[in-house]
Amino acid sequence: MTTILQQFAQAITQGNVEVIDLSHTLQARTSVINLPPQYGQTAPFRLEEISNFDQRGPNWYWNNFSCGEHTGTHFDAPVHWITGKDYPDGATDTISVQKFIAPACVIDVSDRVKENEDFLLTVADVEAWEAKHGRIPAGAWVLMRTGWSTRALTDGFLNEREDGGHSPGPHADVPEFLAMERDVIGFGTEPVGTDAGQAYAFAKPFPCHHTMHGNNKFGLSSLANLDRLPPTGAVLITPPLKIKRGSGSPCRVLALVER
Ligand code: MN
Repeated sequence: MTTILQQFAQAITQGNVEVIDLSHTLQARTSVINLPPQYGQTAPFRLEEISNFDQRGPNWYWNNFSCGEHTGTHFDAPVHWITGKDYPDGATDTISVQKFIAPACVIDVSDRVKENEDFLLTVADVEAWEAKHGRIPAGAWVLMRTGWSTRALTDGFLNEREDGGHSPGPHADVPEFLAMERDVIGFGTEPVGTDAGQAYAFAKPFPCHHTMHGNNKFGLSSLANLDRLPPTGAVLITPPLKIKRGSGSPCRVLALVER
């Protein structure tokens, strides 16, 4: 008799379960969000060589690095937002580790984003996806596939104009639907943040941050390789760094997909 874990380990070894990297490479050129000048700003990723097999360390290579918690492919914890700040289990070090493994539903709107950089995913779009693929299960991630990750390391990633960033995200009604009606674990996207670039100007600003974190839900942003995931059936592994009262962290997001 083989146990579930033995079967799983064998499936990984034999390639029947593929491991897909949903993360971009962290580097100095990794885009970080720019806030209006009156606010504090996140630092870009910085790497500083300590030694590289030289007089500073003849047999070892290593670096110091620094960055904001919300840099590159990263995890948003509930305490990131004012609506989620008091959850005792809402920081990177206090979230139950069980929650870092969860199934994913992938909603592909990449064709519509080609026509509209400010495309907003609506509840009707989510319901149309469900009519085809089944109801989003409680505890699942919902990932918005837009093709935006192909813009990484270009100006088109932040896509900033006079009035701020222009990138796709959820319509204001979607986070409430996903949190309250579907009890998802979180919402994930390819652009720099989970909310659309223009979400600061919505009647209810930053609805994804406001509502998801207010309901102790998570976020993932700057995801890559969503085109390699099936609409249902993938399992995500998303542990952020265990920063004390961290509001998030860069994350090596992995997806397991059966072949
Ligand atoms: Mn973030």
